[in-house]
Amino acid sequence: MACIKGSAITSPFLDLGLSDGLANAVDALGYETPTPIQEAAIPSVLMGRDILGSAQTGTGKTASFTLPMIDILDAGRAKARMPRSLILAPTRELAAQVAESFGKFSVNHRLSMALLIGGVSFSDQEAALDKGVDVLIATPGRLLDHFERGKVLLQDVKILVIDEADRMLDMGFIPDVERIVGYLPVMRQTLFFSATLSEEIHKIGKKFVMNPKIIEVAKPASTADTVSQRLIWTKPRDKRDVLRKLLRRETLQNAVIFCNRKRDISTLLSSLKRHEFNVAALHGDMTQSARLAALSDFKEGRVTLLIASDVAARGLDIPSVSHVFNFDVPSNAEDYVHRIGRTGRAGRSGSAFTLAASEDDKKYLHAIETLIGQSILLDGQENTGDDQTADAGTPKAGKKTGNTSDTASDTAPDTAPDTGSGGKSRSRNKKSGKKQAMNENARTGNEKTGAARDAKYPDEKRPPEWKGNSFRDSDHIPAFLR
Ligand code: AMP
Repeated sequence: MACIKGSAITSPFLDLGLSDGLANAVDALGYETPTPIQEAAIPSVLMGRDILGSAQTGTGKTASFTLPMIDILDAGRAKARMPRSLILAPTRELAAQVAESFGKFSVNHRLSMALLIGGVSFSDQEAALDKGVDVLIATPGRLLDHFERGKVLLQDVKILVIDEADRMLDMGFIPDVERIVGYLPVMRQTLFFSATLSEEIHKIGKKFVMNPKIIEVAKPASTADTVSQRLIWTKPRDKRDVLRKLLRRETLQNAVIFCNRKRDISTLLSSLKRHEFNVAALHGDMTQSARLAALSDFKEGRVTLLIASDVAARGLDIPSVSHVFNFDVPSNAEDYVHRIGRTGRAGRSGSAFTLAASEDDKKYLHAIETLIGQSILLDGQENTGDDQTADAGTPKAGKKTGNTSDTASDTAPDTAPDTGSGGKSRSRNKKSGKKQAMNENARTGNEKTGAARDAKYPDEKRPPEWKGNSFRDSDHIPAFLR
């Protein structure tokens, strides 16, 4: 917490080298102590170092790059159409979320920002670019559209952030990102973040960064202890009925319901509306304004249930969700972790229910249970504290078993890319021993030790780590960034 001692304020954020203005801004937001990713990243970003960071949404990752950027950018002004920094995010919602955070953090600074996302008129975005922006936040496609029209010039970008790189990869955006990076000056600072730092992502990241500091604080395969996870076996045609019963039985504040296919989202939306539930949908086929409206209705409590697809919901910061329902078992095990990560945030308790109904679901559940290193109990079953991966995904005696004909399996999933890298990432974590070690590492919440990092990435040359205490002297910002 920032507090006044004599005439000076003290705050752990100041100790990371941030300015008084930022310490006050985060204090006003109720941030008392920096999160592990903030502790690890902020001093290095202020020094001008590149970052290769692995952190999920929910870890305070956005502030770990936006806060130091604000201080660095404070020392200069933008020219028309020549942004001084660029943040690339894979989806409109994530880009909008970063912009929202930037706005909150920079209340005590005079920095301009533009958000370039699809579904919003070009002319407003062009007008913002014309005035000159310090921070440009964009999805790759829309940025390239503006670039090709000559409305934005990228040669003045000194800081580049690539956020949610693994999602960029899933969505096929890496070639666009490579093109954009080709237009940027070589002399720049690059901050590359991904929920997981797989070998593949690491290889991609290395193309963009120079001598990066590697930070890994994410929990790539773990689910919060505060979330109770339950499984219900049923038949495909009974799923809606089972869901309604659960919605009525549970004391829920609000819930996100995940479907694998867009078609199912629409069907479920009409069905729940017919049964007088207060519900909205969020998926990739909706217009941008409809998506933002649904999200804000849900965030502000005007809507209780949000039916979402993985792509639309990935990384969204929706605080205080009491329940998550997987109307379908996700075919990508990591999506399960992301889905149920919508609840149980910041130490609150939450409940996640998964409806399973087919042979495929059994396979998917097996992969999920292997990834998370625990079995998902059947609804009604007591938690004995046994954390072993059990007979994964198998319907247990006395419960309804699934009919193997999943009627919707012939339709395209909402997220085509999910079929792409999902298999690979699942097999990466097949061994629960490895997974436990990852969890152990994540639990410490700290950057990997130098020795462990060097063993993992032997060909990386890194300057010695900074060991100082304070960056209050603004000279610490490298000349090329000022
Ligand atoms: P992010 O991982 O950036 O999406 O952040 C997740 C949530 O944590 C957001 O609601 C932030 O406002 C919040 N947050 C970020 N840093 C801190 C902090 N140091 N203390 C408390 N909350 C934080």
